[in-house]
Amino acid sequence: MRQRLSSEPDRYRGRRRVPTPPRSRYAAVVTGAFVGAGIVALGAGALPDAKSADPAVLAGLKQAAAAQGDLAERADDASRASRANDRDALVDSAAQDAWKLPLTDYDIIAPYGERWGEMHTGVDLAAPEGTPYLSVHSGVVTKAGWYGGYGYTVIVRQDDGTEAIYGHSSRLLVQEGQQVQAGAQLGLVGNTGHSYGSHLHFEVHVNGAPTDPVPFLNDRGVDLKLKTESLFAE
Ligand SMILES: [Zn+2]
Repeated sequence: MRQRLSSEPDRYRGRRRVPTPPRSRYAAVVTGAFVGAGIVALGAGALPDAKSADPAVLAGLKQAAAAQGDLAERADDASRASRANDRDALVDSAAQDAWKLPLTDYDIIAPYGERWGEMHTGVDLAAPEGTPYLSVHSGVVTKAGWYGGYGYTVIVRQDDGTEAIYGHSSRLLVQEGQQVQAGAQLGLVGNTGHSYGSHLHFEVHVNGAPTDPVPFLNDRGVDLKLKTESLFAE
C-alpha cells in the first residue's frame, strides 16, 4: 500500500482505500508472469528429452529468460520512479483538493432524510465516545462551540464554498477562525445536545441548504457506506 502523509499513520487504521490507478503494480505483475512463463518453457524444453533438444533453441530460451529478468529489473526501477513522482504530485495537490471520511470506523445509524415525521438534515455515524473525527475537506472553522440541539459543534466553511457541520461532540479540538486541512482532527465524538447515544451528526450545506452527505461525498471520491476514499480528488 502506498504510504502518503505517513506522519499520520493512525488515520488509516481500519479504513479501506479505493485502489488508485495501479500502474506500477500492474507492470510488476505482468513482468512476473512473463518471467514465470519463460522458466516453465525452459523446463519443458529441457527435461522430457534433454539429449535431443536443439542447443540453439535452449540458448534462445535462456536468452529470453535473461532478457525478461532484465525487463523485470527495469520495470522495478520505473515503478520506483513513478512512485516517487506520484508522491511529489500528491504532496502538492493532496492537501488542497483532498476529501476524506470524517471517521475511520463507524456505523451509519441514521441516514439523511425524513425520520419520525421530521427532516433529519445529516447522517448519524455511531462511534465510541472520545473517537477523534476529522475534517472532510480543507477550509476555515466558522463555529466551534455549543450549537443548540447539535450540542458541541464544529462548522467548517470549506474551500469549495460548502459547509460541513459536525455535531454532538464530547470535546472540540479547534477554534473559530482556524484553518484546517482535510483529515485534521476537529473534535471528539460524543453525546451532547439532542442526541440518543454516542455518535457524530455529519451535515453538509450547499448554498446554505442541507444536502444528503452520501451522494455529496460520493461525487468527491468518498464513499460513506463503503468507508472508502480515493487518493486523488478529481
Ligand atoms: Zn443526526
